[in-house]
Amino acid sequence: MVELVEVTKTYPGGVSALAGVSLRIERGELAAIVGPSGSGKSTMLHLVGALDRPTTGRVVIDGHDLATLSDRQLSALRGSRIGFVFQQFHLAPGTTCVDNVADGLLYAGVPLRRRRERATAALERVGLGHRLDHRPHELSGGERQRVAIARAVVGDPPLLLADEPTGNLDSASGQVVLELLRELHAAGTTLVVITHDREIAAGFPREIAMRDGRVVAAVAA
Ligand code: ADP
Repeated sequence: MVELVEVTKTYPGGVSALAGVSLRIERGELAAIVGPSGSGKSTMLHLVGALDRPTTGRVVIDGHDLATLSDRQLSALRGSRIGFVFQQFHLAPGTTCVDNVADGLLYAGVPLRRRRERATAALERVGLGHRLDHRPHELSGGERQRVAIARAVVGDPPLLLADEPTGNLDSASGQVVLELLRELHAAGTTLVVITHDREIAAGFPREIAMRDGRVVAAVAA
């Protein structure tokens, strides 16, 4: 699903965020990326999410070498194959849950009525079928994250990436979100999750540990 070969990323100004990472993530894996702040976790997730290109080295996502894709093709790859979940939810304020989720299908060119039907089904899947017309400020943090997950998976992407998805949640809501991610994984989604939480990481089948822009251990349980 994901292959990184000798990948480096240097930001303008000369910060070396990735210093040579080689990594394979197979279809159907559930992997945690762990490591101290500044170790390159988000940079790696951005590359795996086709949000950015490497400075050197090769990144192949679902059979596509990022270097061979135009910007337009890169956003097509993201829109059709990859779902994102962020610590800060990134929902549109003032927009109902169903329309927040329906926006996850904008790229696919699905007509609005069909987008809303699929969004409703996705919200039911995350247990929020009774909150369709609520707006984000009317929801708890855990519910907001479940809306964000519904938006990420409404187009059935084979690859789901999450950056500290429980970082803003109390532990009970965090557990619900984790359970949901596990269900998506059990249903076949390849899932890569950045987490600071050692307990969460230890509960995943695979831990990819980073330090100073390198993978220092890729432990499979
Ligand atoms: P982590 O997610 O593990 O905290 P990051 O990938 O965010 O690590 O950052 C790795 C390094 O790259 C850090 O030194 C950070 O300051 C730097 N960095 C991240 N994003 C940028 C950017 N857009 N421009 C310049 N430097 C950046």
